[in-house]
Amino acid sequence: MKPRDREEELRQAGLDFSSKPHRPSGFQRRAGTPPAPGELAGAEFLRFVGEIDDLEDLERFALECSRCHLRSGCKGVVFGEGSPRAQIAFVGEAPGADEDRLGRPFVGRAGKLLDRIIDACGLLRDEVYITNIVKCRPAANRTPTEEERNYCIPYLHAQMRLVRPGVLVSLGAAATQGLIRPDAKITRMRGTWQEWRGIKVMPTFHPAALLRDPRKRPPVWEDMKSVLEELGLRGPA
Ligand code: SF4
Repeated sequence: MKPRDREEELRQAGLDFSSKPHRPSGFQRRAGTPPAPGELAGAEFLRFVGEIDDLEDLERFALECSRCHLRSGCKGVVFGEGSPRAQIAFVGEAPGADEDRLGRPFVGRAGKLLDRIIDACGLLRDEVYITNIVKCRPAANRTPTEEERNYCIPYLHAQMRLVRPGVLVSLGAAATQGLIRPDAKITRMRGTWQEWRGIKVMPTFHPAALLRDPRKRPPVWEDMKSVLEELGLRGPA
């Protein structure tokens, strides 16, 4: 039998070996057709997210999320971006209008200032990891509630478990309250080392606060110098 006839015979029998074998990711192997986040009840959701072992799989899963009411008021989930091996992770409170429109964190005016801070540290944006505690934009850019933070924070737990940065920089009061203590005051806590799930945390002012009050810029630079020193990075000469 000619090879082509043999291929045709296999195809008719439903056995087509002509294409490359599909190699499913760990997520697909384990999950089959992965459920959407909203299909999983509380403990089941936490277990499922806790077992995802690939950042891209986690992002695919999170992008389908509608676990809380914030999703119905925004364009989409803003998962986060950056190096999966970043030494520094920046965590803000929630996406704003520009972030919601573009599906990327920190891309508005405050994001441009964060880019300058990263540049001043002698790093590229691609070399750090950037995300928020809450992944969907609250209406009118209000601060997310504690309940909204609690719904969303399992994604941050999983992101940080997979990236495992040397230092997490919490940007502003809401991020610091969500990570460290609900009553945290950023003016008192900034510049002091904290710890969250085994990761060193440096709270500092949110870039949006620096836009409103440039006097906050020197303290943020002091905080970033502490971060660089902790990581053994020298920053620009
Ligand atoms: S804010 Fe978080 S928990 Fe709520 S829908 Fe968006 S991704 Fe899901």
